[in-house]
Amino acid sequence: MPVDESAPQSPAESSAQAAGTPAAAGAAQAPGAEIPAAAGRSVLVTGGNRGIGLAIAQAFLERGDRVAITLRSGDAPAGMLGVVADVTDGAALDAAFARVEAAHGPVEVLVANAGTTRDQLLMRMSDDDFDAVVDTNLAGAWRCARRAVRGMVRARRGRVVFVGSVVGLLGSAGQTNYAASKAGLVGLARSLGRELGGRGITANVVAPGFIETDMTADLAPALQEKYQEGIPAGRFGSPAEVAHAVLFLADAGYVNGAVLPVDGGLGMGH
Ligand code: NDP
Repeated sequence: MPVDESAPQSPAESSAQAAGTPAAAGAAQAPGAEIPAAAGRSVLVTGGNRGIGLAIAQAFLERGDRVAITLRSGDAPAGMLGVVADVTDGAALDAAFARVEAAHGPVEVLVANAGTTRDQLLMRMSDDDFDAVVDTNLAGAWRCARRAVRGMVRARRGRVVFVGSVVGLLGSAGQTNYAASKAGLVGLARSLGRELGGRGITANVVAPGFIETDMTADLAPALQEKYQEGIPAGRFGSPAEVAHAVLFLADAGYVNGAVLPVDGGLGMGH
């Protein structure tokens, strides 16, 4: 969805922009919440309007960071700046980043979370199923990282956290497109980390297992039960548990190119 910089802002952008100033973000913080030394940064979470992305955005907001999210429709939650962008559209992303920079300053923490699935057995999977998933999950994350590091290189600091998946290393029948896209994020993070580690920039991957979101709600109850039997924790995880790992990577200065599983032990050994 191309975004014309001169075009009127969507209701999501205009309402959230007003609320998304540094002062407003601070005001939205829960009373009494402590702000760690690393907080107060400009954070952008792609696909932050729901699911895991929303939990991540809320966790940063609660710490007092200036939080922007990309969304494709609807409104941003109070206190966050919503910028409309589809991660498959480089021009829209560029415009979205420009809006975040104008409101919050250059992005210091990028969380590339937007992702999609189009599951199908390999022999039945179309080129379009493969291309669409890779274009969103891998190329989309790459586009965001390429745009974000511009400001990070200038500042000589930055954090990039890619939201991968346990299946990127474990594999998953019926998800050749999705697993390939998530495995690709590991090479992307490690290459970025090697390229820009000397500039104070780190790039890491969180690899969630089954997390309770719209993506897993679609699974039949019997299938959910079957999957849970294979998880040492015996349950699915929560979006907040993924957010906790993302906050750690956003703070850590000496963790680079890591894949941090948040999967209840499902993928251990991979
Ligand atoms: P949801 O389906 O609940 O949310 C996906 C988010 O990505 C939405 O905000 C969606 O926007 C956004 N998005 C999808 N495609 C695009 C696009 N082309 N451009 C911009 N935004 C896009 O998923 P989850 O919260 O469950 O997943 C978040 C991330 O975590 C994904 O990368 C997923 O692969 C990963 N993950 C999830 C697991 C799980 O069990 N849920 C397990 C492992 C990894 P919109 O609202 O407009 O559709």
